[in-house]
Amino acid sequence: MTYRAEYIWTDGTEPTAEVRSKTRVLADGDEPGIWGFDGSSTNQAEGSDSDVVLKPVYTCPDPLRGGNDIMVMCETFLPETMEPHPTNMRAKTRAILDKYGDQDFWFGLEQEYTMLDPVTKWPSGFPPNGFPGPQGPYYCGVGALRIHGRDVVEQHTTWCIEAGLNISGTNAEVMPGQWEFQIGPVDALTVGDEIWLARYLLYRAGEDHEIEVSLAAKPMQGDWNGAGMHTNVSTRAMRENYDAVVKAAESLGAPGKPEEHIAGYGHGIELRLTGEHETERYDTFSFGVSDRGASVRIPWQVHQDGKGYIEDRRPNANADPYVVTALLSQTIGEALA
Ligand code: ADP
Ligand code: MN
Ligand code: MN
Ligand code: MN
Repeated sequence: MTYRAEYIWTDGTEPTAEVRSKTRVLADGDEPGIWGFDGSSTNQAEGSDSDVVLKPVYTCPDPLRGGNDIMVMCETFLPETMEPHPTNMRAKTRAILDKYGDQDFWFGLEQEYTMLDPVTKWPSGFPPNGFPGPQGPYYCGVGALRIHGRDVVEQHTTWCIEAGLNISGTNAEVMPGQWEFQIGPVDALTVGDEIWLARYLLYRAGEDHEIEVSLAAKPMQGDWNGAGMHTNVSTRAMRENYDAVVKAAESLGAPGKPEEHIAGYGHGIELRLTGEHETERYDTFSFGVSDRGASVRIPWQVHQDGKGYIEDRRPNANADPYVVTALLSQTIGEALA
C-alpha cells in the first residue's frame, strides 16, 4: 500500500516569494526523505543546472486527503554543496536562533489577506465596477451585506485544526473581502513553517470556492485598509518583566534598525504604512501602549500585567514570516543579551 506526501516549499518569485508544492507517492513504512525539483521553473536555478534539493523540516497530517497522507514543509538546498539555497530564508532564521535562541522567543502572527474574484480581480463584496459603502460595519461583522467569503474561512480554519497547526483565531477585517487568521504563540521556526502551510491551505480553499487569495499589501487604493501581518513577539525575560518589554520596543527604534526592518517587511510597504488606516508612516518609528497608530504597540493588558509581549504592526501580509522572525530575533536578541 502507498500514501501521499505533499512537499511544500517557498520559491524564488520576485519581489515576493510564493508557495509551491508537488505530490510524492510513498510505500507504507517509507519516510518522506530528501527530494528535488526543477529550479529553473521557480526562479531558483538556470536551466543548465536546474536541480534544487528539498529537505523535509516539518510534517503534519494532510487534511485535504485525510487518511495517512501528510504535508511536508521543506527547506531548499544547492545540490553540489548542500549549502542552503539563497532563497532559503528559514536557514537564515536558524542561524540567528543559534545565537539568541536560548532567550526562548515566542511569536504570534496575524495573517491578513484579501479574497478576489479570479476573473475581475475585484475584492469579494465589491459590486462589479463599483464600490461598497465606506468602511465601518465590516470588521468582525455579521450578515450578508457585510460579510463575503465566510465559507472559505470556515473551510480553511477546519483544515488548519485538522493539520494540527497552532491556529489561534480568525476575524473579518475592516475592508470587505478582507480576513485574518492568527498562528501562535510558538517558536520562530514553527511559526514560519505554519504560516506557509496555512497559506498553502488557504490557496487550496480558494480553489474549491473560485476565490483568488491575495496577500497584496494595499489591494485597493484610497480609503480602504491595507493587509498586514502584525507580529507579536516575546522572550522569556519579556514574559517575566516589563523593563525587558520596553527595552525590546526601544531596540527596534535604534539607529539604522527601522530601515533594516522595513526593507524585510514585504513588497509595497510604503503604500500601506501611510500613517492612515491604523498604521504609522514607513519612514517614522514610534511605540506606545494601546497605540494602533504606532509602529509597535504594547498591548494594554501587557502594561497592566507588567509583563508579556509587543506587537510589531509594520510587516505586510506578503512578508516572508521567516525573514520577519529573523529580523526580530536578531534585533531584540542582541538588545536583551
Ligand atoms: P490584535 O488585538 O492585534 O488583533 P490578535 O488577537 O489578532 O491581536 O493576535 C494576537 C497574537 O498574539 C496571537 O497570535 C497570540 O497567539 C499572540 N500572543 C499572545 N501572547 C503572546 C506572547 N507572550 N508572545 C508572543 N505572541 C503572543
Ligand atoms: Mn488581530
Ligand atoms: Mn487585523
Ligand atoms: Mn494586531
